[in-house]
Amino acid sequence: MDRDAAGAILSVDLEAFQANYRTLDAASGGAICGAVVKANAYGLGLGPAAKALHAAGCRHFFVAHLGEGEALRAILDDVEIQVLHGANRGTEDRFRTARLFPVLNSLDHVEAWRESGGGPAGLHLDSGLSRLGLSDCEIETLAREPERLAGIDIRLISSHLASSEDRDAASNPEQRARFEARRALLPPAPASLAASSGVFLGPEYHYDMVRCGIALHGVNPTPDRPNPMRQVVTLTAKILTVREIDPGEGVGYGLTWRAPARRRIATVSMGYADGYIRALGNVAEAAIQGRRVPVVGRISMDLITLDVTEVPSCALGFGAPVEMLGPTISLDELATAGGTIAYELLTGLGARLHRAYVGEVDA
Ligand SMILES: *Cc1c(COP(=O)(O)O)cnc(C)c1O
Repeated sequence: MDRDAAGAILSVDLEAFQANYRTLDAASGGAICGAVVKANAYGLGLGPAAKALHAAGCRHFFVAHLGEGEALRAILDDVEIQVLHGANRGTEDRFRTARLFPVLNSLDHVEAWRESGGGPAGLHLDSGLSRLGLSDCEIETLAREPERLAGIDIRLISSHLASSEDRDAASNPEQRARFEARRALLPPAPASLAASSGVFLGPEYHYDMVRCGIALHGVNPTPDRPNPMRQVVTLTAKILTVREIDPGEGVGYGLTWRAPARRRIATVSMGYADGYIRALGNVAEAAIQGRRVPVVGRISMDLITLDVTEVPSCALGFGAPVEMLGPTISLDELATAGGTIAYELLTGLGARLHRAYVGEVDA
């Protein structure tokens, strides 16, 4: 969607994104700082995000799916790419062609990779999240029958924390201890436990590589402390119309908001189909020239209504910009208002938005 045709614009500050990479890299001590660019780089756009990370020095990438890995390989040639979900049977040759490493999450994954010819791969252990990764019993089997790993070149042994954003969670040291104990049963290989928040739990969580995603996008990895990251994403919607309504008149589907007095309502051209979730109706705020305005009424598929009574009319022209997310309205604030997390909002930002990049680089 080009800028003129789109109803709303997602601006991505790639210099801030790169600065965040450098901040995370420095905070990870001697560990390699890998970047997680699954889900179209959390909605920002895989190509520009990957190139910016590469220019900032990143050489280790993680994606969820084979298709994402192939797309990334077409953009960056000289980087290591691990595919977190592993290889579905029958896709192994595509991994080798694109030089992708599957992350093996079960004995079935291990067996399929070995039978298809083996080669470089990651191993993921379940240390307590009960989601993906080799179980205790599977690790014991591998320890007892090491021939199951014959021909597999283990590049990284990883696990994932359940509550790393909560520095006091008892599960953090528990998972670390389980990770250590289980890793010791396997052939020696570099290790990785921390994602964005894990980086800030201390050096004992860094191991050989960290895997950062959300903090690159400016979301606070340390919710109990000031945000060390720079803001990256601004979402700007365009005003379509402005109207005055009388006291008692309703706004939007179901007329869930009624004007307590004479009010001025601006309608902007963006809605839940663009990822501005319906739960934000009647609770979120937006900003016009830094001044906060409440979202009133329900969010429609393509439209949002705002009470702009307090805003000077010169800022309310046809096509005038409204900050739905950005320097005034943080991603964290919006997510909290909508009863969700920044990850969900970011990855849900829709294909109809025009994506504009500040500081774009060539690979
Ligand atoms: C998504 C993901 C990450 C990145 O997590 P952030 O919290 O976004 O930094 C790291 N590791 C694994 C296994 C993941 O699935």
